[in-house]
Amino acid sequence: MPIKTHHYSNGEITITWKPELCIHSGICFKGLAPVFDPRRTPWIDMGQSDTKTIMGQVKKCPSGALSYAINEKDK
Ligand code: SF4
Repeated sequence: MPIKTHHYSNGEITITWKPELCIHSGICFKGLAPVFDPRRTPWIDMGQSDTKTIMGQVKKCPSGALSYAINEKDK
């Protein structure tokens, strides 16, 4: 079965979250709670911080559940 993925974009980057890989370590919401808040739906709000900070936090995800890609600029 394909792994389910969710995407969240702020126009500059797109975060991909794979719930099956998430080990609920809490590192993302302890590190950047305004963006990563599991009590909220959707739980990731890209408008709550800047791109660089969000990218830094995504890199700390220990399971690979979170990743990001830089969006292609419109030509
Ligand atoms: S840091 Fe990664 S593994 Fe930990 S709760 Fe967040 S998404 Fe899940």
